[in-house]
Amino acid sequence: MSSEEIVLDKKALAQKYRLYYKICRNCGARNPPNAVKCRWCHSKNLRWKKRQRGFKK
Ligand SMILES: [Zn+2]
Repeated sequence: MSSEEIVLDKKALAQKYRLYYKICRNCGARNPPNAVKCRWCHSKNLRWKKRQRGFKK
């Protein structure tokens, strides 16, 4: 087992979580991708936030 693989895996996971998360339409809080309800106001009015990879030059 190499520790490099684990680091890469964690990186990929972190990237995924950075790219996809849910925004509450009610209070605007950021919620984890697996959230069903907003953790702050318990509203179910969540929308997906997708970030594009890379930057515009
Ligand atoms: Zn909320």
